[in-house]
Amino acid sequence: MAQSLKIAVVGRECVACGCCARVCPREAIAVEWGIAARVDAQKCVGCGKCAKVCPAAVIDLVKREKAE
Ligand code: SF4
Ligand code: SF4
Repeated sequence: MAQSLKIAVVGRECVACGCCARVCPREAIAVEWGIAARVDAQKCVGCGKCAKVCPAAVIDLVKREKAE
C-alpha cells in the first residue's frame, strides 16, 4: 500500500550537496551536475530521511492524493 507522505518540494536554495540522495533508501533522488535535487515521487516512500539530513532545509513532505 502506498505511503501517505511523499517528498514534494525541493526549494531553490538547494546547494546540490547530494546528502539527500545518499540517504534515500529508494534511490528516489537524483542530483546531477550540481543542479538542485530532483525526486521521483513514484519511488519515494515518505520516510523523511532526506529532509532530516538536508543542510539547507529545503525539502518538504506532503500528503499524497488518494489517487496516487
Ligand atoms: S522521503 Fe525517504 S524515500 Fe522519499 S525521497 Fe526522501 S529519503 Fe527518499
Ligand atoms: S540535501 Fe538539501 S541541499 Fe543537499 S542536494 Fe538534497 S535538497 Fe539539495
